[in-house]
Amino acid sequence: MISIIFPDSSVKKFEKGTKVIDVAKSISEGLARKVLSASFNEEIYELESEIHLDGNIKFYTWDDNEGKQAFWHSSAHILAQTIKFFYPKSKLTIGPSIENGFYYDVDFAGESISEKDFQKIEAKFLEFAREDNKFKLKSIPKTDALEFYKNENNEYKIELIEGLEDGTITFCDHSDFTDLCKGGHIPSTGIVKAVKLLNIAGAYWRGDEKNNQLTRIYGITFPKQKLLTEYLELVEKAKERDHRKIGKELELFTFSSKVGNGLPLWLPNGTELRDLLQGFLEDAQRRAGYKKVMSSHIGSKELYETSGHYEKYGADSFQPIFTPNDSETFILRPMNCPHHCEIYNAKPQSYRDLPLRLAEFGTVYRYEQSGELHGLSRVRGFTVDDAHIFCTPEQVDSEFKNTIDLVLYVFKSLGFDNFSAQVSLRDPNNPDKYIGSDKNWEISEQAILNSAKEKELEFNVEYGEAAFYGPKLDFMVKDALGRSWQLGTIQVDYNLPERFDLTYKGSNNEDLRPVMIHRAPFGSMERFVAILLEHTGGVFPLWLATTQVEILIVSENYKNYGKKVLNILENHEIRAHLDDRNETVGKKIRESEIKKIPFMIVVGENEVKNDTISIRRHHGDDLGEMKIEKFIDIIKKEVSDCIPKFNIN
Ligand SMILES: [Zn+2]
Ligand SMILES: [Zn+2]
Repeated sequence: MISIIFPDSSVKKFEKGTKVIDVAKSISEGLARKVLSASFNEEIYELESEIHLDGNIKFYTWDDNEGKQAFWHSSAHILAQTIKFFYPKSKLTIGPSIENGFYYDVDFAGESISEKDFQKIEAKFLEFAREDNKFKLKSIPKTDALEFYKNENNEYKIELIEGLEDGTITFCDHSDFTDLCKGGHIPSTGIVKAVKLLNIAGAYWRGDEKNNQLTRIYGITFPKQKLLTEYLELVEKAKERDHRKIGKELELFTFSSKVGNGLPLWLPNGTELRDLLQGFLEDAQRRAGYKKVMSSHIGSKELYETSGHYEKYGADSFQPIFTPNDSETFILRPMNCPHHCEIYNAKPQSYRDLPLRLAEFGTVYRYEQSGELHGLSRVRGFTVDDAHIFCTPEQVDSEFKNTIDLVLYVFKSLGFDNFSAQVSLRDPNNPDKYIGSDKNWEISEQAILNSAKEKELEFNVEYGEAAFYGPKLDFMVKDALGRSWQLGTIQVDYNLPERFDLTYKGSNNEDLRPVMIHRAPFGSMERFVAILLEHTGGVFPLWLATTQVEILIVSENYKNYGKKVLNILENHEIRAHLDDRNETVGKKIRESEIKKIPFMIVVGENEVKNDTISIRRHHGDDLGEMKIEKFIDIIKKEVSDCIPKFNIN
């Protein structure tokens, strides 16, 4: 008999060789119907796989990323089968699952394919899927595998197989189709009920432009037609909310090839938005005991050699800067941390000085290939809302809790209500991979787990996902369209304090090593603004609107009254703008709507006579005529409701 441990820590005994699907059935028929794949001792298992050892099992359904990956991986096999049906001479290369769907890279060997062919391919794909053939793994000798693809004239698969270890090679069969594959399938093709081929792109074999160009076909599949319809609607909505489109409409940022690819230019509105975000976080950080620092955009090569960044990123990054006279070498800084270590080192530190929390909105530069650049979300120069906390090992616990509070405060104030967290810990089977003492690792891993529990985060624990220099906590937020983004990382570091020889005097005057914690609730200003634009569609919470109120006058006659209203609002620190152009009110309202300004004030004859203003909301209600003092109260209440002051516990 073998013992199998379930995710809730319960243990059950099974016959040796029991299949995964039978273990699922032992829990419930419902689970057995829904399960798509599984993992056993952290390895991917298929439902027909037999279990011969004691260990931990996890089941994956469509609701899990692992389930979707098995589904899309299997769908790539059906796509390959369909392509071979229409283009028998074509040569298949690789076809992985990706974040949303899958692709297959094919050498069409002279034949052509275009998006016009998608419909017939989709129809045949579904026909094949409906045959409901099982996916079956088989092992064959390497020589036979090579022979198979020699007969097919497929030099790509031959190259792949030659790169594998000698012995047996696995293939996956379904129906009369077979493909080189190491596994990870759903049980059968019939579960795939809907398919959409998305687009065609060129791709080089093994990503190397010296190699043959292949045709990459992207697709996505679902277990229900309804899910495909919903997905396509989501894609349409996402296009509407593309941050590059909204950024243009709201005049937030632009790019110029003259300035350089991937280097954003912030326009006045965008700069004001950034200032508001920065001020908001700096205010909270001040309350949480952070100290602001500033440092340069370049640093000596030696600095990054000390930190280890040069060794790791030097060759793939912007190349060194040389001085004309002194033989000095500088690097555009890829990280702020080394600078902050030297700020720590600027004076002798004692345990009484800790925790020391140094914060800087620090701009860093990283080389990204031009093909990888994407609006504000992937750029070459960006500003990190960086901070480094230097503390004693015993303080990691409270610092973690405070940092979680700060991150949650950021999420709440910006309307990210749907989030989860991941705790990344050491691989218990590989303790030599990590720097820092066992004792310190235990303290900090326990501190992270405690903090996550105490703050009632919804979190999962991943063993082996920690960096070699320390464990971490990452937040994932879901935006209004249900897409996940990684936002906010808190990372413990035992490495840089060693490399920079950071010390503090303990209570017995001994030299001790501080722990360093890196954290950035936004991540970077650029990427954060991109996510915020796609989450809100450009309709920001009132506290963040660069113009909160647009004052529209019905005609030139009311200009002075408009100015008076503007003055009063400005005196109450409300961000208002007077539109006194000689245009119709209708046109001015339409323009304010496009700019997504939260409130519009209309003033005309009545308002002047009654000493009032008339209020309209963006996309909504006519709040009618009121005294200006009442309106000020409404705005102030709404701002303080969505952004209470940050108070540290
Ligand atoms: Zn496969
Ligand atoms: Zn850092």
